[in-house]
Amino acid sequence: MARRIFVSLLIAACFVLGGTTLFIVDEMYQTYTQSQMEILKAETQLIAYGIDREGMEFLNGLDDTDYRITVIDSDGTVVFDNSGSDISQMENHLGRKEVSEALSQGYGTSTRQSSTLTLKLVYIAWLLKNGMVVRLSASYASLYRVLRSLAQPLLLVLLLIIGLAFFLAYRLTKRIVDPLDNIDVDKPEEKAPYPEIQPIFNRLLQQKIRIDEDSQRLMRQRQEFETITENMEQGLILMSADGRILEINEAALGILKKDRNELLQSGISETELAASLLPLLQDGQMGHRASALFRHNGRSYEADISPVREENRISGFALLLMDTTLRDSTESLRREFASNVSHELKTPLQAIEGYAELLKSGMVRKEDESVFYDRIHKESKHMETLISDILKLSHLEDDRSTVEKEVLDLAQIAASVVERLRRENEGKARILFEGKESHIYANRELVETIIYNLGDNAVKYGGKDPEVFIAVLQEADKAVLRVRDKGIGIDEKDQERIFERFYRVDKSRSRALGGTGLGLSIVKHACIVNNAEISLKSKLNEGTQFTVRFQRI
Ligand code: ADP
Repeated sequence: MARRIFVSLLIAACFVLGGTTLFIVDEMYQTYTQSQMEILKAETQLIAYGIDREGMEFLNGLDDTDYRITVIDSDGTVVFDNSGSDISQMENHLGRKEVSEALSQGYGTSTRQSSTLTLKLVYIAWLLKNGMVVRLSASYASLYRVLRSLAQPLLLVLLLIIGLAFFLAYRLTKRIVDPLDNIDVDKPEEKAPYPEIQPIFNRLLQQKIRIDEDSQRLMRQRQEFETITENMEQGLILMSADGRILEINEAALGILKKDRNELLQSGISETELAASLLPLLQDGQMGHRASALFRHNGRSYEADISPVREENRISGFALLLMDTTLRDSTESLRREFASNVSHELKTPLQAIEGYAELLKSGMVRKEDESVFYDRIHKESKHMETLISDILKLSHLEDDRSTVEKEVLDLAQIAASVVERLRRENEGKARILFEGKESHIYANRELVETIIYNLGDNAVKYGGKDPEVFIAVLQEADKAVLRVRDKGIGIDEKDQERIFERFYRVDKSRSRALGGTGLGLSIVKHACIVNNAEISLKSKLNEGTQFTVRFQRI
């Protein structure tokens, strides 16, 4: 645009300046020739006056004159001419414009160009009293000649004009274009440099506001989408119709074990799960929703694909990936636990039922009845303990966050639990205790359960003459609880498993001792809730030592 404005201005300026120069030259030339003609006319009048007074003799008295003087008779014959030409050879002048005008009106003029156009011939004719016409003619340089003779300075002036026009056009173009160049389209709220383009600015401002609103809305939506997808447990992959990955969330990257950029470039065909996912993609491309369960590297996965349609055309796919390993194992654990619970409850119930039926049938001798009642009592007590342990465990697993904690002295709690164990096992076991005041932040009831269950086990599995050592000591920033016995010990292969629910090394021995198989499970969960770590050292037939480390405060 700047170029067009510049060229237009340059041409206009050249025309105006050039035209003006020519006009002035022409005007000056016209004024000059006009004044020359006035002079010529005055000369002609003077000569006519002279001839009228003195006759043709007057002409002889004129010496050198700048003008050509011709006297023409009323019939057009030249009777005098001072040019030195032979007047008898001269053609009849009646047809000459200035002559015929002078004959009819008393005065006539005419101008003629020389054949080379370089001269302008001016004729003035005056009617003499004797009816003849005296004519003066003079030649001047024509405008063409003037211009030609002025060619050099004119060219110089023209060059100056072009230079000036160039400079003016440049300045003007700059002044017009600069404000346009400096328009910041990002700031249409500013005033337009020219009122003529203010409507465009207003329009731009409206569009900018709309675009800002739209982009903010899009950004919000995108953030919402990202927040939702990034916090999803499931892997989400959005794909184009040709199977390119458009979006992929963290969970999906974790499952596919690939870098985001790598996946965006290569697609799912380059992943380890390609063999399972590509058939799904084919189903999706045929417009079906499809899902598949598969295992990979010892883990279970579920994948669902849904085609995304736009105007009856498949525009892409949403692929949902789920690592179902934990869900599957939790599910199987739950099933196993439920069957264990029902089995554990069934055993004492069947025993109670059997004893009750025997009593009811009257087959039991009177003196043996109390034994059966004792057994029924013992089995129902066992059921009660079992149910209480199950409830404790499920409470620990479900409501970890609601457990209330306080600052406790581990040694003081251990001492009171030791008292209880001593009371319950009076004459059956020796329980030794030593404790150093150690403060922890934990739940009192759960800490008591940890100490009691470990101490109770130490007595139960402490061998023939159980001797149990319970101690509270300090180790750097830890408060340490130790429960040691010299009993049957635990085989290395069982040491990991004894914390599992209902796992017992010797089931009948545990049952006979009133165990439920849940004690250590409860201890493990109680430790987790109180941020404590449990470990054990044991040797078959030599004894076992459990160590629980709490954070000391
Ligand atoms: P139980 O009610 O059977 O005692 P626990 O969960 O408390 O259940 O213990 C699980 C199993 O771990 C026990 O059945 C027993 O075989 C073994 N066990 C626990 N404590 C000891 C110990 N101090 N010495 C030897 N074995 C033990």
